[in-house]
Amino acid sequence: MDYSRKAERITPSITLAITTKAKELIEKGNDVVSFGVGEPDFNTPKHIIDAAVKAMEEGKTKYTPTPGIIELRKAVCDKLKKDNELIYSPNQIVVSTGAKQSLANAFMAILNPGDEVLVAEAYWVSYPELIRLADGIPVIVKTKAEDNYKFTLESLNKFISNKTKAIIINSPNNPTGTIYSKEELKIIAKFAKEKELIIISDEIYEKLIYDGEEHISIASLSEDSYNRTIVINGLSKAYAMTGWRIGYAAANMDIIKLISSIQSHMTSNANSIAQYAAVAALNGSDRELNKMVVEFQNRRDYMLDRISKIEGLSCIKPSGAFYVMINIENFLNTKFNNKEINNSVDFSQVLLEEEMVAVVPGAGFGIDMYVRLSYATSMEQIKAGLDRIESFLNKIRK
Ligand code: PMP
Ligand code: GLU
Repeated sequence: MDYSRKAERITPSITLAITTKAKELIEKGNDVVSFGVGEPDFNTPKHIIDAAVKAMEEGKTKYTPTPGIIELRKAVCDKLKKDNELIYSPNQIVVSTGAKQSLANAFMAILNPGDEVLVAEAYWVSYPELIRLADGIPVIVKTKAEDNYKFTLESLNKFISNKTKAIIINSPNNPTGTIYSKEELKIIAKFAKEKELIIISDEIYEKLIYDGEEHISIASLSEDSYNRTIVINGLSKAYAMTGWRIGYAAANMDIIKLISSIQSHMTSNANSIAQYAAVAALNGSDRELNKMVVEFQNRRDYMLDRISKIEGLSCIKPSGAFYVMINIENFLNTKFNNKEINNSVDFSQVLLEEEMVAVVPGAGFGIDMYVRLSYATSMEQIKAGLDRIESFLNKIRK
């Protein structure tokens, strides 16, 4: 049978695949330490759950307007003003089923077949595939380790073409955890203006920032960057709400109308109950969030310390999100129990099969000499997992 060639070219999400595999092994009784999953291990705060229960009891279980209930869109506008100095009206917001759907909507709204989108290597696994699904072409911009895998003007100039339509900024970045400074964003905003590009700014990790670093939305830099940016954000990471599936896009009216129209046919509104819970999250206290950030920072510091003490191992120091990319270059072209370890996929597979530790291969993010460890798991698990990784590295060490 001849199925969609576009669909057949899509690779399933490797982050979700690893997480599922680790869960399956755990269900079969294996003692697996999972550094795979990119979701907070904390429960959704109680006041948010209470708001969902109340919404259900009050019968708020019907369709809502496609872009979301007005209370939520107002809460999003208040948040964007308070945190990001961005002024939007509620009709410039579309609430969706996770930030992932907002990204999918955005690409469908702006791309024509063959349009190119600049994506910095290292990138989150879903960007290239979402761009392809919208008939666009992801152009992976080679970046350098010394630039912390961020765009520079030099790298952008190398990859721009007359087909370039948009550029994605993801700060703090998944998987590297690096953050763009205001100066760096200004350079990109100027470049986007000169080349007339749309900017997609994925700010989902903005609340998970350490060492007093600052998150700046590129949309806030000038009127021009405001008009050409689609801000993408959501509640999954900041409020431990991954399963609730609430994300949103904010943009100029022309783009947001297209996004809303696309979503009206794809999924209609995001889950109504989750929308009421999201209002409570955005309008409520950030006490739980702040506690979570302190805990993430402790875990990150512990991991950085441990990694620095393992001979031959290094990592990218993350300033945000909850991932550490460890450089496994010195441990490639080795063997374990007759299994060859020549790249990050081999490394991750052998580590899972032999030591029951799940990590995500860097190949999924475009940087193959790394593997990603998520520290959205308990300190106890982190210690046990790093012990196992250290002993594994000692076994394969050349
Ligand atoms: N952007 C980035 C960079 C991510 O890591 C994720 C993963 N959750 C998302 C967007 C999508 O988040 P969600 O759909 O859960 O809101
Ligand atoms: N974004 C998270 C991750 O990178 C969750 C999984 C996904 O949606 O890809 O692990």
